[in-house]
Formats: sequence, C-alpha cells, structure tokens
Amino acid sequence: MGNNGAKFRATNPRTGELLPIEFVAAGPDELNLAVNLAHEAFGTYSQLSGREKAKFLRTIAAKIEGAVDAIVERAEQETALPKARLQGETGRTCGQLRLFAQVVEEGSWVTARIDRADVNRKPAPKPDLRSMLHALGQVVVFGASNFPLAFSVAGGDTASALAAGNPVIVKGHPAHPGTSDLVGQLVRDSVQECGLPEGVFSLLLDSGTDVGVALVKHPLVKAVGFTGSHHAGRALMDLAAARREPIPVFAEMSSTNPVFILPGALRENGDSISSGMFGSLTMGAGQFCTKPGLVFLLENADATTFVEKLRNLVNGSSEFHMLTPGIRSAYQSATARRRTEKGVQLLAEKSSAAPESQDEKFGVGAALFEADCESFLQNPDLAAEVFGPATLVVRHSTHSGLLELARNLGGHLTATIHGTEADLREFSDLISILKSKVGRLVFNGFPTGVEVSHAMVHGGPYPSTSDGRSTSVGSEAIFRFCRPVCYQGFPESVLPAELQNSNPLGIWRMVDGEMTREPLTC
Ligand code: NAP
Repeated sequence: MGNNGAKFRATNPRTGELLPIEFVAAGPDELNLAVNLAHEAFGTYSQLSGREKAKFLRTIAAKIEGAVDAIVERAEQETALPKARLQGETGRTCGQLRLFAQVVEEGSWVTARIDRADVNRKPAPKPDLRSMLHALGQVVVFGASNFPLAFSVAGGDTASALAAGNPVIVKGHPAHPGTSDLVGQLVRDSVQECGLPEGVFSLLLDSGTDVGVALVKHPLVKAVGFTGSHHAGRALMDLAAARREPIPVFAEMSSTNPVFILPGALRENGDSISSGMFGSLTMGAGQFCTKPGLVFLLENADATTFVEKLRNLVNGSSEFHMLTPGIRSAYQSATARRRTEKGVQLLAEKSSAAPESQDEKFGVGAALFEADCESFLQNPDLAAEVFGPATLVVRHSTHSGLLELARNLGGHLTATIHGTEADLREFSDLISILKSKVGRLVFNGFPTGVEVSHAMVHGGPYPSTSDGRSTSVGSEAIFRFCRPVCYQGFPESVLPAELQNSNPLGIWRMVDGEMTREPLTC
C-alpha cells in the first residue's frame, strides 16, 4: 500500500486553510488487524440478541448526543456546512441508530418462516423447514463526503450492518478525518461499555484509495457499503466481482432526479414551484444525491415564465462552498463541458468570487442550462449527474414527446411529478414509466430531504445504485447485510429462538403461509 503511514490534514473549505490536526493513513498491518479482529468478533456479535444489539446502538446514539457540540464544531471546519444543518444531521444519525435499535429489539425483521412437516404426504413426506435471515460477516463501509455524519462513520450503512449482526470496518472520507475520528472514538467507547469484542468496529483513515481497495479485496470481507461517485462505486463493484469469492457492493452512486412539471401545476403554482426548485437544487450547495438535476416541461407561456423566474433566482444567488477541491474542480469541469455541448444553452450562471485558479478556496456559483430535446435524447452525458448547484431544463412541445423523454431515462434514485388531478389523468402513463426508472416517486414536492423511516426507499436501478433491489436509508436497509438460511428437520433444542415452536421472542412469523405471532402447538 503506497500511502502507508502518509500524514494528511483536512482543509477548511470556507477559508482554504489546512486544519491543525494531522492524521495518519492506515498501513497494511492496521488494516489486517482491523479485518482479523472483525472476523474474530463475528461469532460472538452475530449471536447477540436483538435486545443486546439495540442497547449497543442506543449507547452510540447517546454518546454522539453527548458530544454534539464538539462534533458539530469540527464538522463545520471540515465541511463548511452550516451549523444548523450539521446539528440536524447529528439528530438524524442518532435517530437512525435508534430506528435500527427498535427494529432489532422487536425482532420480526429476521423474516422467520416455518413450513411444518407432513409425514403422511404422498408420494413423499414433507420435511420440517424453517428459515430466517442471518448476518453476512465483516462489512466495509465507505464514509461519504457530503454527509459527514449521517452517511459516514456511524451513519446508515454502519447502523444497518451492525443491527443485522455484522462487525463493521469504516474507511473514513479524507475530507473530514477529524469528525470521523471523534465519532469513531465514541463507537469504540460504546463497544467497550457494552462489553463487546473489540473487532465489532474499526475506523481506518486514508488520503488516497489504497486502504479502500485493500479492504474490498481482503478475503475476510463479506460486503461493502458505499456512497459517492459513479466512477469510484463502479471501480469497487468491479474489484468485488473480480475477487476469488465475489462479494456484494451496495453502492449509491449517481442520480440526476428528474422533475416533471405538468401544465396544470405550472399554471396554478409555477411561482412557488420555481422557488422550491431553486431551494432544492442549491440546498447543501447542490451536493446531495437527490438534487433535482433535470427539469422537464411542456413548452408554453407558463414554462417561459417559470424558466425566467428560475433564471433570476440563479443569477441572484450567493456563492456556494464545495466540500473539497476535487468536488469543486469536478463541478467546474462538468459545467464548463456542458457549456460547450451541442444543443445546450447556458441560461444563467452566478460566477464565484474565487477565481477558478484559486484552488485553495472552494467557492462556486449556481448554473442553469437548457438543452433542446433532440440533443438531450442523443447525448447521454446530458442526463448525467453534475454534483453541485446546477440543473438542466428540457422543454418539449408535445405530450407524447414529454413521455418519450421519460422513457429514455436511465436509473435514478427519485423522480418527481408536479401536477394537478387533471394533469395526472392526462399524463396517466407517466407514473408507470417513471416507476420502472426510480426507487422513490415524489408528488408535488422536491426530492431533497430523505426521511429516515420504515417505508423510505433510497435506491434505484443502476447507475443510481449497484443493486436496485435495496435501499440505503430507512429500516429496510438492514436487508442488504444478511442472507437467508434454512434449517431442515432440526430439533427444537438447537434451533435459533426465532424459529422455536414456542416463539419465545413473540415475533411475527409466517407459519404454513400465514402471518402469526402465536406459538406452535406441534
Ligand atoms: P468519491 O470520489 O466517489 O470517493 C468516495 C470514497 O471512495 C473516498 O473515500 C475515496 O477515497 C474512495 N475512492 C474513490 N475512488 C476509489 C477507487 N478507485 N478505489 C477505491 N476507493 C476509491 O466521492 P467524493 O470524494 O465524495 O466526491 C467526488 C465526486 O463524487 C463528486 O464530485 C460527485 O460527483 C460524487 N459524489 C456523489 C455523491 C452522491 O450521493 N451521488 C456523493 C458524494 C460524491 P479518496 O477520497 O481517499 O481517494
């Protein structure tokens, strides 16, 4: 590993200054130790009861809450995200940990199924079959740059993997090592306080890709959770697939989150939709995987008014601070390229106070582009994610043309429809087209702001994620890090509690095809 022992420091994106604390990239010895300890911990940790795992998750949440001021202060310096946002994100992180605590304490998430034996069945007796979900093994989690807390060290991937009974090794994002270190220490303290094996959790830092690559290749690692760019997510998917034992990578990568504004909604609410759209596309400097990066409209006078309003808002916007120099230059190159694409017009752009050459400051301006339909349909790059406060408008003159634009879309995390009841009747095909393209459909709202709850789906067909059958937010995220195991003909005494006749945990189970919490009498 080339970066072994390299020292690095975080930069304050607002000032461009290097922050004082120095961090050291993990070397092969530390990496092997973390993975081996995790492997050793798996046997004990995966056997813990839901109640014990819940206690651990709640302990982490309480410790994070106890250190919120220090965490927010450091995260503010490392990300330039506003204090209120970081406080909210801390609350979300703790809420997420407690949601999974509740799920594992209740226990029915293991999806227990029991098909009772029938010795008299002809021509062959039916065996007793009982199945449930079990933990996968050691999970590697990559912290994301844009959510230093909720998608980082103790974020959703970590919480769901721990809840399912897996030890976790986090590869912290180099943009916020201090925040990662503070939270990592609190998770380690929680491991100790709950009397768990040390290897249940480790945090490794790096300022390059060596540690991440070595973790994904490590033969004892069983699954990966990732949030970031398509480029990196795809590289990790390919690495995992090329292993002697391929492993699943749950990567949330890139999404442009198309928004369809139908004519009735535009006529009735065009003004508020344009303000809401501007707020959504510039929230967090546009550094959200759910940022609305494509806006589809039917060509008419209301659309002209809408675009004009959006244009004024972009022109009047202030400078936005990007999270890292890399993200800033990626945004600058993507917007510069877009300006030169055939059929694309720059409608508005707020230039940043810092010149492009001034790399130590991460300021950028918002941008509004418009593409003609033909160019949009012919050039897949125009539907690709531009990470930052930019969006692209596409207007079509016909109803069928608008539906064609929808049919042409790839996989995204979300799609949004603004419409009236009459719009929905007129564009009845739109919902069925979009539901095959995304994980979440939003009606008369905006895609940013992802609720952490039981019904949330934060996933979608490739390339928005590596596996469109999963979600990385909400309680269903736990299903990524487990697998079903069936016990055939086993005696009651050695079955897991979840599958025993008496149902000692009182969980919901499917018995001979019917959902019940009742114990079995035979
Ligand atoms: P990134 O480049 O995808 O990096 C995320 C993590 O993966 C980092 O820890 C990075 O390590 C590691 N990594 C990158 N390439 C790798 C490779 N080939 N092999 C192994 N590990 C690798 O994301 P980022 O640094 O946060 O931002 C860069 C771009 O990602 C943004 O401009 C944006 O386009 C996209 N992004 C998208 C989302 C989203 O939610 N859709 C979120 C964040 C970022 P190092 O940084 O140490 O190299």
